[in-house]
Amino acid sequence: MIIKENFELKNLCTFSIGGRAKFLCLIKTKEDLIEAFNKAQDEKIKVHIHGGGSNTLYSDKDLNLLVVKMNNIGVNHNNEHLEVLSGTPWSYLLNYCLKNKLYGLEPLMGIPGTIGGAVYGNAGAHGMEIKDAIIEIECFDTESKEFTTVNLDNFKFSYRYSDFKKNKNLIIWSVKLGFSKDIKDKRGSLEEFKNFRLEKQPQGKTTGSFFRNPEGDSAGRLIEAAGLKGYSLGGIKSSEKHANFFINFNNARFEDVIQLKNLIQKRVFEKFGVELVPEVITVE
Ligand SMILES: Cc1cc2nc3c(=O)[nH]c(=O)nc-3n(C[C@H](O)[C@H](O)[C@H](O)COP(=O)(O)OP(=O)(O)OC[C@H]3O[C@@H](n4cnc5c(N)ncnc54)[C@H](O)[C@@H]3O)c2cc1C
Repeated sequence: MIIKENFELKNLCTFSIGGRAKFLCLIKTKEDLIEAFNKAQDEKIKVHIHGGGSNTLYSDKDLNLLVVKMNNIGVNHNNEHLEVLSGTPWSYLLNYCLKNKLYGLEPLMGIPGTIGGAVYGNAGAHGMEIKDAIIEIECFDTESKEFTTVNLDNFKFSYRYSDFKKNKNLIIWSVKLGFSKDIKDKRGSLEEFKNFRLEKQPQGKTTGSFFRNPEGDSAGRLIEAAGLKGYSLGGIKSSEKHANFFINFNNARFEDVIQLKNLIQKRVFEKFGVELVPEVITVE
């Protein structure tokens, strides 16, 4: 396992914001993961799990944390399922599926980050959520220090939510996903999904949608209607292209993001009585 000290987290996330973590552990194997948790115990320090950093806002203060970067990457398949290690980026899985002519996951393929991060937040796009494809999840339980299979019968997944958000002791290690070998089960065109993102979403240092969409509405529409589309504060702004995407356009500080978040929440609540809830995970 590779361990780095005082590692700048802004280099690990799509927002490019973040102070130094006391330790960064790059883990590839199950033994590495166990070793990282043992180190955290020895150092009496909290652990944060990092996938691809595309849904994470780190404080820019120095953080007394041991950050575990999931670098367990790999995909296999048999006739029934794909088995994907949780640190695998979606782009890697896409290439694997294209090469092996496996269909059914197309709508999810443009999501940044890792499979583990997607399962944690039940990521979704174009009418599909990752929960629709999950067959089995293998986890590391930090309490028993054992690898176990999650009982999915009573495990809840909903819009941008999975029970991993409340079971903090479970670290996703690998996921079995369903697929089809029949091209008729292809769920839409990768080209069209890609073009949709290029057309509707801004480029730049962002975490994608900052707020969850309230039921029956869209956070982007509410921000625009509250007059804050394109509004900037310090180095951060709500994108002119998609109001719910915050863009770090000029060395934004953590505090800039929090102030913009608070302002948008206040204005939207005053105007529409709707409480916007962040989708982005804040670590401070
Ligand atoms: C340009 C852009 C477009 C986006 N489009 C979409 C979209 O269409 N749909 C969508 O749903 N999201 C979208 N997102 C948000 C983001 O990509 C997803 O939420 C993604 O699934 C996060 O994965 P990650 O690996 O980057 O997670 P991270 O940001 O690294 O982590 C997010 C959370 O997951 C936890 N976590 C990560 N890995 C594990 C693990 N192995 N075990 C336990 N916990 C873990 C972390 O501790 C953290 O709490 C977009 C983001 C960007 C920047």
